[in-house]
Amino acid sequence: MDSSVLKLDTSKQNIYSLSLTELQEVCKKPYQAKQIYHWLYVRYEKDFAKMSNLPKDFRERLQLEYSAQNLELLTQEVSQDGTRKYLFQTRDNHTFESVCIKMRDKKLDENSKIIEGEKYTFCISSQIGCKVGCAFCSTAKGGFVRDLTSGEIVEQVLNLKKYNNLAPEKRVNIVYMGMGEPLNNFDNLIHAIKILSTLDGLSISPKRQTISTSGISPRIHDLGKQNLGVQLAISLHAVDDTLRSKLIPMNKTYNIQSVIDAVRAFPIDTRKRVMFEYLVIKDVNDDIASAKKLLKLLNGIKAKVNLILFNPHSGTKFQRPEESKVRVFADFLTNKGLLTTIRESKGIDISAACGQLREKTRSRQGQGQNVSYET
Ligand code: SAH
Ligand code: SF4
Repeated sequence: MDSSVLKLDTSKQNIYSLSLTELQEVCKKPYQAKQIYHWLYVRYEKDFAKMSNLPKDFRERLQLEYSAQNLELLTQEVSQDGTRKYLFQTRDNHTFESVCIKMRDKKLDENSKIIEGEKYTFCISSQIGCKVGCAFCSTAKGGFVRDLTSGEIVEQVLNLKKYNNLAPEKRVNIVYMGMGEPLNNFDNLIHAIKILSTLDGLSISPKRQTISTSGISPRIHDLGKQNLGVQLAISLHAVDDTLRSKLIPMNKTYNIQSVIDAVRAFPIDTRKRVMFEYLVIKDVNDDIASAKKLLKLLNGIKAKVNLILFNPHSGTKFQRPEESKVRVFADFLTNKGLLTTIRESKGIDISAACGQLREKTRSRQGQGQNVSYET
């Protein structure tokens, strides 16, 4: 990792914020934009000087005006289960985290032989902090700092591919389930999704990108109108408005019915389903009466339910539910024909699991290179 040599230059424009069309406007010849995209996203090259098929004077101009190193990697933690958490620092000295989850994967080849491989999912942040303020979430505790730019969103993905030595053609999945509420950073998110899916670049199909939202109904409608082909995940967590408003204060403005209406209007690929995330909290929403209401609420929607066991973090009064109780909840829904899975908590030992990410304060002591962790 070369983070020690990295100098973050705030006067330059982040090259990863540019779509291919925008880059073509910068280049004298449009094919040069494709060449730059190839260097950046296929060769993972960050040094313009090394882009040897571009004219020297053009490389110098790029170097003066643009930067391909806008995030500094401060630390990397590896969980016992192989999950990796990366702490990045932005050019304006804020920190945020991204997580790479590696899972075993089995596929059938053309002779129906099982090939074992690995599947990578990147959990990407969309904001530093979050304005939504959910009662159970560690990110909410740090308050809201700022939106990530589209370039910062793209660079996270690129860096995670590079750090994990993934071949350019290796498919990865993206879930916008890191820090922040993606639909509160709508324009940057959409722009980033378009850049990430560009065929001459990282080529990550929108079908492999899942936006998880706490349910900002008007923005779900807006997202649907974009017709990008992205997957939608709704953080529902409660089946009645009183409880949901306690867990997600924004529910007072955009209640459960408004979220369900927005989902019904959302264009869904015929082979796909909308994911409803249901955070199971001990003695709060883990009873069968809630499961029954959930079933009723999702009636007629192409839905799948993903049960997330509450991941504890400091300063929370909520508790992780008993696994047997969650199993009963899941079995009830499955037996009634609702596709239901229980999310495996990855990276819990390094606080990389859902809801455990938050901004870290940088030590003001010493050379300022140490990172102190909030506990
Ligand atoms: N803001 C978006 C995406 C980021 S949060 C959203 O809320 O959907 C990603 C997921 O982590 C959400 O489903 C969220 O509810 C869940 N989450 C938050 N805190 C959690 C915790 N302490 N334990 C388990 N999951 C949590
Ligand atoms: Fe924000 Fe999502 Fe955390 Fe709620 S759960 S505070 S929306 S990041």
